[in-house]
Amino acid sequence: MAELIDQFSRKIDYLRLSVTDRCDLRCSYCLPEKFHDFSEPDNWLTFDEISRVVGAFSRMGVSKVRVTGGEPLLRYKLPNLIEQLHALPDVEDLSLSTNATRLVANADRLKQAGVSRINVSLDSLQPERFARLTKGSLDKVLAGLMAAKAAGFHPVKINMVVMQGVNDDEVEDMIDFCIQHDFTLRFIEVMPMGDTGRDAAQQYISLQDVKARIAQRYELIPGVMPGGGPARYVQVAGTNLRIGFITPISQHFCETCNRVRLSAEGTLYMCLGQEHRFELRPLLRAGISDRDLEQAIRTAIDLKPEKHEFKERPEKVLRFMAKLGG
Ligand code: SAM
Repeated sequence: MAELIDQFSRKIDYLRLSVTDRCDLRCSYCLPEKFHDFSEPDNWLTFDEISRVVGAFSRMGVSKVRVTGGEPLLRYKLPNLIEQLHALPDVEDLSLSTNATRLVANADRLKQAGVSRINVSLDSLQPERFARLTKGSLDKVLAGLMAAKAAGFHPVKINMVVMQGVNDDEVEDMIDFCIQHDFTLRFIEVMPMGDTGRDAAQQYISLQDVKARIAQRYELIPGVMPGGGPARYVQVAGTNLRIGFITPISQHFCETCNRVRLSAEGTLYMCLGQEHRFELRPLLRAGISDRDLEQAIRTAIDLKPEKHEFKERPEKVLRFMAKLGG
């Protein structure tokens, strides 16, 4: 079946799947501390509905699927969904983004169910700072990370949102931590999503500056691990550590964007930094055929905008990152 190509000749082969907008952490740049206005579980797509949508995408060339949230492990029986998605013949790469708070209990089961790769958010290695930034426990997250490693996930990738005066003084500590544990490290620029993201964007720091700083202490070998994603990688000489830089603000990568996002409620979002969207849930609940579902997805892909406008119009995106999962 014909691949999904958007209006700007970009091939869409990657789907990010949010399975809940709820989270057990409250990262300062993501969800407001007292936020309660979550979507109703009745409105979440069921596992069968999600599998139908992913199946349709995969028949049109989408072979990479990442499960995210909110915190995906808050979704009841998530490993069962993973099993269902893993059974789809055209899904080749099934990955998970998590805050790791529930990995001690779930890592083995996720591995058995078919998750191939895990990314973990970790913005600080200092227990008090971590608690202040996330309202959670660093110990729990570190235990989760070690459980992922013990379950055989490799490489585990750590995602750190670097913010000036908040945690940029920990960049070197995070590098040493990842060398020690054989994790891959990715630095991310903070994006003005929702009020929290916009507030945090006041502490924005360009990763170009961070890279220049760490290059003074470590020898960085450029150009390793060219992946399907937006991270530009370097290797730290004399170690196995790879560091990725995800720079949506200082150097956007929209021209190679290969992804769309499905919210827990079944809305397809075409761009993290724009509001272009398409509602699939009403169609699914009205009994749409597989063929018409594929056609609906093609119609949605035609809405994908050329680029985000985080820099030009930072006020634009009202939803928090937790709605879609980055
Ligand atoms: N709970 C999972 C996790 O912690 O990875 C998945 C969802 S979380 C929203 C996905 C990623 O989005 C995390 O790495 C988080 O740091 C990042 N994120 C949230 N808000 C952001 C913002 N305003 N700018 C940049 N990254 C953000």
